[in-house]
Amino acid sequence: MRATVIHGAHDVRLEEVPDPVIELPTDAVVRTVASCVCGSDLWRYRGIAPVRRPTRIGHEYVGVVEAVGDAVTAVRPGQFVVGPFYSCDSTCPHCEAGFSSVCEHLDWYDGCQAEAIRVPLADGTLVAVEQPAEELVPSLLTLSDVMATGWHAAEMAGVRAGMTVVVVGDGAVGLCGVIAAKAKGAGRIIVISRHAPRQALARDFGATDIVPGRGEAGVEQVMGLTSGIGADAVLECVGTADSIRDSLAYARPGAVVGFVGVPHDSDPSIATMFSRNVGLRGGMAPVRNYLPQLLPLVLDGTIDPGRVFDLELPLDRVAEAYEAMAERRAIKVLLRP
Ligand SMILES: [Zn+2]
Repeated sequence: MRATVIHGAHDVRLEEVPDPVIELPTDAVVRTVASCVCGSDLWRYRGIAPVRRPTRIGHEYVGVVEAVGDAVTAVRPGQFVVGPFYSCDSTCPHCEAGFSSVCEHLDWYDGCQAEAIRVPLADGTLVAVEQPAEELVPSLLTLSDVMATGWHAAEMAGVRAGMTVVVVGDGAVGLCGVIAAKAKGAGRIIVISRHAPRQALARDFGATDIVPGRGEAGVEQVMGLTSGIGADAVLECVGTADSIRDSLAYARPGAVVGFVGVPHDSDPSIATMFSRNVGLRGGMAPVRNYLPQLLPLVLDGTIDPGRVFDLELPLDRVAEAYEAMAERRAIKVLLRP
């Protein structure tokens, strides 16, 4: 089969690799219906994170089960499935407490930008859904990472009805954070964004205000919009030191910054947290725990996160997909095998 392999900075190729097979009785093999490129894949593509050897890449997918191991009982061949960007058992104490992304048996895929993947711990990882209408596929695909990650930011920040929420980041996760804040009843949603097409999509998703400034200018604008008080909750969806510093400054005393941006050289600004009485809570999203909540919202059309995909390409043009996202010509690219 064909799968995407990253060889180094600005070098991804679709290559012929061995077909995935059932290696353990708890495995499933899933034929991918759609996959996509994640902002976190770009760290390696841009050369910021090292690529030591050619490596399969991609961690988001929806697909159809092709085969299951002898111990698998929750899914069967032919079923359409959604799964998180990791594998988990869904039975350990951390999974049961709502944090499956820290599962005691956490496992990873070989690379999902491929025609098929081996899914470890299939019973704990995969959720079967009835064969969806074609137009629902992009939204279902976002549940494997970005929509559930935006939801996690809102959950960690404690977003409740009527709150004023600031969303930091206008990438796919930030935009999904807007959807999450809206779904949780936020009264006002302020998005930090400088890009017109992303601002428009943020407004469609429920943003009430756009702040184009960052740093001190951004803080001043957010304070201006909140009578100098600050936001009740902040969703940090970038992960840089600057973005975390700004997020802590947008928050009103007593508020929590929900952070889900993969940290890169980030400074937790403990002194600011102390002086402003602002909390920081978050981490890698426990996507599997949110699926039972989010799937019905997608299936009944309450949320439409698939709109973050503004470009769709066949898998054999995966190199173009990376280029388009790295150059910010696309928010997120959907890949069809
Ligand atoms: Zn677990």
